[in-house]
Amino acid sequence: MSDIINILPDSVANQIAAGEVVDRPASAVKELLENALDAGATKIQLIVKDAGRTLIQVIDNGCGMSESDARVCFERHATSKIHKADDLFAIRTMGFRGEALASIAAIAQVELKSRLHDRELGTLVLIEGSHVKEQSPCACPCGTSIAVKNLFFNVPARRNFLKKDSIELSHIEEIFKRVALINYRTDYSFNSNGRLLYDLRAGNFAERISQIFGNTYRQRLCPVNEQTDIVGIEGYVSKPEFARKSRGEQYLFVNHRFIKHPALNAAIEKAYADIIPDHHYPSYFLHLQVDPSRLDVNIHPTKTEVKFIDENTLFAILRAATKKAIGQFSLATELQFNPIEEVDFPPAPKGYIPTPPKIHYNPDYNPFADTRPHKATPSPHNPDPKYSSFFDLPSSIGADPAPQPQQTSLPLPADSPAAPQLHTPSDTPCLQLMGTHIISIMPSGLLVVDQHAAHERILYERFLNHSATPHPQQLLFPVNCQFSPADADIFNELIPDLKHYGFEIGNLGQTTFVVTATPPDMKETELQPLFDQLIVQLKGAMIQKFTDRTDSLCRSMARQMAIKPGTPLQQAEMQQIIADLFCCQMPTLSPSGRKTMAILSPDQLLN
Ligand code: ADP
Ligand code: MG
Repeated sequence: MSDIINILPDSVANQIAAGEVVDRPASAVKELLENALDAGATKIQLIVKDAGRTLIQVIDNGCGMSESDARVCFERHATSKIHKADDLFAIRTMGFRGEALASIAAIAQVELKSRLHDRELGTLVLIEGSHVKEQSPCACPCGTSIAVKNLFFNVPARRNFLKKDSIELSHIEEIFKRVALINYRTDYSFNSNGRLLYDLRAGNFAERISQIFGNTYRQRLCPVNEQTDIVGIEGYVSKPEFARKSRGEQYLFVNHRFIKHPALNAAIEKAYADIIPDHHYPSYFLHLQVDPSRLDVNIHPTKTEVKFIDENTLFAILRAATKKAIGQFSLATELQFNPIEEVDFPPAPKGYIPTPPKIHYNPDYNPFADTRPHKATPSPHNPDPKYSSFFDLPSSIGADPAPQPQQTSLPLPADSPAAPQLHTPSDTPCLQLMGTHIISIMPSGLLVVDQHAAHERILYERFLNHSATPHPQQLLFPVNCQFSPADADIFNELIPDLKHYGFEIGNLGQTTFVVTATPPDMKETELQPLFDQLIVQLKGAMIQKFTDRTDSLCRSMARQMAIKPGTPLQQAEMQQIIADLFCCQMPTLSPSGRKTMAILSPDQLLN
């Protein structure tokens, strides 16, 4: 039998390698952005058309390439970043495998223009399916521009495998965020189909986070800063109260590279154990700096997986640093993103005795007082007969305990002849237990109310009945809210619905919105979290029909605005909550199905 083994031509070998390096437009974007950073660029422009299908272009002002490098860079294993095997353990660049451009050129039509800073002219190279079509001198700015056209033009299987544009674009956006977040000393712009999605100015890490995710992140994050022999950790983690139900913004970087590392992610989340509810996740933006010799990034071509030599120690340090940050800073109101020089107080004069500042407050202020007219059924004026006994209690506890039928769950049967017709909340004293529950007395026993769940139910029904609509509260200082470009589109769709509930919202630009009025009782700090939550829900694609959408809007607003566990309540507030709760159509459960109250009879308590 004759010999049957061939050496594959480069174009085929490159196409095979491309399968690993470039599986979708976003991976080509990653390689090009990283090359621009490795070239020392301070300004990088990303331009895509049709979610990268027809064009991905990256323009940088980095070092540029010589005429011959502009040609050689498309060869397989062509790299300027390492020279020998030992260099693999001292990698300080994003790339080093010399595979990306060869792979991209094997599966697309590529136009490269590059010029060194000390040259008058640059070089143009056109290459298509690994075949050079043209190389010539050209006039171009210093730096490099690489335009990748018609990705997968010769790999139909891969092309057909691509998802719809919105999905591919969101992958590109995610890659862009990962690169731009940690390389914050570089200017970036990102243009998609002629629309400017991001325009980021060089700054510090915190500024970059707020440029990408919005200014509200200032209130949500605590700084982390820990320097040890093994690792330097810098960045930000979210305060526990901003934990979310989805694993949203979790960014871990090692030596300026975004990585996925389940054990380290778990270490961070462990720091939040016991302080955030189950199935909630913190956000974080953390940069670990380790000696490159203690790190292996060469596990996979995309380099998002890495291996550390000191994994266990690193795990412990990361967890401790996160815990420390949460403990130290989570009570601070807002991160100072542009720290001002330390304020220099003059020493106090001798014998000076400081006096504590005076706080003025109105002891009669009742944020829960509802001055709006209620709907006919049920209402404080016409409470649900099942619960009306609460309105009929004698004012002193224990006085006149009217004989009640034996029952445990409800105070009075609906048809009880004893059902009274009182119209205002009872003045039965209430106690607050552990900052979370209200305790009161019913004729049939001890009433225990979960303050958050109860208020959520009250607000939910109020919103569903549209009773919040007529009285928007105008804000003294309009509040700006910011979203990522993709989220801003979703939010735009929500505005008419929100208007219905008393919000007045204008669009200040593509991703910034200004809120000028809200439903009554809404706190300004609750706006961004509320909108974020609504967007997450809409994204979940569970909500298609208008009715569901309204319901979900009411639920989210109620959850966000309901008094939080731990909020101290005045006597009148507690009484109002109980009265309002009993006027609800379904007082016993919160909109999410949690029990709002229990009534414990003496029998139950003592047996
Ligand atoms: P790697 O980045 O792993 O070295 P690439 O295939 O991505 O491999 O790039 C090959 C080489 O081309 C790089 O090592 C670099 O010398 C050169 N190069 C690529 N992109 C740029 C750029 N934007 N500016 C300057 N040089 C570049
Ligand atoms: Mg590269």
